[in-house]
Amino acid sequence: MRTGDRQLIKELNVTAVITTIREHEPISRVDIARLTGLSKATVTSITQMLLRAGLILETGSGDSRGGRRPTLLRLNPTARLAVGVKIAPARITAALTSLQGQILEMTSVDLPSEPPAIVEAVEACVRDVIHRAGFTLSPARLLGVGVGLPGIVDPTTGASISSYFLRWQNVPIKRLLETRLGLPVYPENDANCFALGEYWYGAGRGASSLLGVTVGVGIGAGLILDGQIFRGALCGAGEVGHMIIQRDGPLCNCGRFGCLEALAADAAVVQRARQLKGDWEAYPGGRPEVILAAQAGDAAARQALAEAGEWVGLGLANLVNVLSCDFIVVGGEAVSQAGEMLLQPIRAALQRYVFSPLSGRVRVEAARLGDEVWLIGATVLALQRFFHAPLKVAVTR
Ligand SMILES: [Zn+2]
Repeated sequence: MRTGDRQLIKELNVTAVITTIREHEPISRVDIARLTGLSKATVTSITQMLLRAGLILETGSGDSRGGRRPTLLRLNPTARLAVGVKIAPARITAALTSLQGQILEMTSVDLPSEPPAIVEAVEACVRDVIHRAGFTLSPARLLGVGVGLPGIVDPTTGASISSYFLRWQNVPIKRLLETRLGLPVYPENDANCFALGEYWYGAGRGASSLLGVTVGVGIGAGLILDGQIFRGALCGAGEVGHMIIQRDGPLCNCGRFGCLEALAADAAVVQRARQLKGDWEAYPGGRPEVILAAQAGDAAARQALAEAGEWVGLGLANLVNVLSCDFIVVGGEAVSQAGEMLLQPIRAALQRYVFSPLSGRVRVEAARLGDEVWLIGATVLALQRFFHAPLKVAVTR
């Protein structure tokens, strides 16, 4: 075997061990060996290296299956840190997280109106959150900054190709922020951040693949296949909100007719509830008020939500039929507020519209990480590079 091959195998084994610790901590060396298929001697030698580098800790003892209780291992949560940023239509939020995806500190500012001011505000937010947590902006401990933003992002250049909400096109956000911060910056579509966050630390933990869908002001999705974001050749994979599901249906923000978003996002739900109630002034508080009314038994509001859920389920069934994915996590503001009132019709529509051999085998779960999922997912963009080569990062930094 060539030296290069040996080195590569060693790196792959280290990645397998630390990933298993991340997914199953606290965990014994014996269980790591069982789950990775590596020999106990290899696991012992790798965990020694990780302990010496300060990346993992020995903690307490596990269940004894006869004999001595094994020592358990877990990540050293603050051995490395990452920053996640969410650029939303109204606010910029930044969070500093541990290796376990726990938010240590958070800060936010209003979204400025002009693109150059947005980049400056992101930089200020990142500096602020690191400072508040009592750390310095140094690559010794900070793995980098993940940035979730609406629209299409080029994964190779890190440029924001087009963002309707931010009203910008071809903004080299990665380059601009790296120059200002001196840290690696990883921009990504926000729905992909949602899916990554739930996959690593939420409802999708341990799943092989996952389709993460968010329903709120807009409808978006991120697809994780075997641990990796699927972007497609044109980088825009996951724009389920603009899947046309009703020919000549209502006008969408994108200028076309009958998109899922035009039938089931916030504005559509409010419009439909008003129509059913026969009162165009009803629900002045918008979607939150429609959901509160539905929870209080308002028939028009209940039906509007049920119909929105059915449209989302229909769109998801089309995706399942094409992609054969079996695990869907649904979140976003509307779902976190309405819960089962939206999830139940989504599940029912999936049951009805999924191609019969696959029907009944698709699991739909509510997102678990709440509003923080976007930030946690953004930090995963920086964390995942560390988990792929933890010792390399530890030695070179
Ligand atoms: Zn559209």
